[in-house]
Amino acid sequence: MPIPAAIPLNADLHCHSVVSDGTLSPEDLAARASANGVQLWALTDHDETGGLRRAGAAAQAQGMAYLTGVEISVTFADTTVHIVGLGFDPDNARLAQGLAATRDGRGERAKEMGAQLARAGIGGAYEGALQFVGNPALISRTHFARFLVESGRCQDTGEVFRKYLTEGRPGYVPHRWARLGDAVRWITEAEGVAVIAHPARYKFSANEEFALFSEFKAHGGQAVEVVTGSHSAAEYLSYAALAQEFGLAASRGSDFHSPAESHTDLGRLPPLPDALTPVWALLADRIRHPTRHLAPDRA
Ligand code: AMP
Ligand code: MN
Ligand code: MN
Ligand code: MN
Repeated sequence: MPIPAAIPLNADLHCHSVVSDGTLSPEDLAARASANGVQLWALTDHDETGGLRRAGAAAQAQGMAYLTGVEISVTFADTTVHIVGLGFDPDNARLAQGLAATRDGRGERAKEMGAQLARAGIGGAYEGALQFVGNPALISRTHFARFLVESGRCQDTGEVFRKYLTEGRPGYVPHRWARLGDAVRWITEAEGVAVIAHPARYKFSANEEFALFSEFKAHGGQAVEVVTGSHSAAEYLSYAALAQEFGLAASRGSDFHSPAESHTDLGRLPPLPDALTPVWALLADRIRHPTRHLAPDRA
């Protein structure tokens, strides 16, 4: 049974497991989402679909509707932009190749980050970060941040990013990720919907943001995150207006990474503002519904 678009739905279509830089397994995330009242869930690990089989099975076991998901790292206007893909075929070979190419280079970048931090007086950061990695192909800044907190250098991961891991800081290594058009095409050619993730995070000028939205749409992108853990209430409204201006559907997701680090828990977000088309209305035929609810009718 498709989910009627008009019914407010507790959808959480953005979160991370140990397969990228989250701290919970796909199974624990599914259980936590379900306990928090999530009705439609997607796991969106960075540049990696390796957790999706487990996520799909766990959603089924929890009686939660489910979409495939991923969050692709893109470089646009010399800035890292994240593009979420939803509802794609996880076995699509071109998408898998694209993600593998995007992951490639994370290892070298991490070694360089370790070398830079060593020059700044912090030894052993690469080896330290590796201890927090669930998937060796997906070492990220978050793993360095956890090491720096654990070793007492900083109070929390936010402080690590401010002091060490962002542009101009001693542990920041610039990196070139996928191209916007490629990421959107990998998703759409695998029959998914591409979504601009947390647009308020990029600090673009109005012109750059207009260029991002225009080019994204021209490449076949169809949605934007409006209600996310990293937007303020005012940003929900400004991106609702931008979604309407560009004719994009709207998505909702916590971007949950860890019970200890994330301010927004799974499913604990306001509903999408009225008048927007929810992204799940575009994906009705790709939502996998738990068969458990159908069982009595079939008995
Ligand atoms: P990477 O893909 O290795 O560049 O790491 C990016 C990840 O770092 C993001 O997905 C977030 O999980 C995390 N991150 C980025 N900025 C911050 C921040 N200011 N505070 C905490 N985590 C952050
Ligand atoms: Mn992350
Ligand atoms: Mn992101
Ligand atoms: Mn994310």
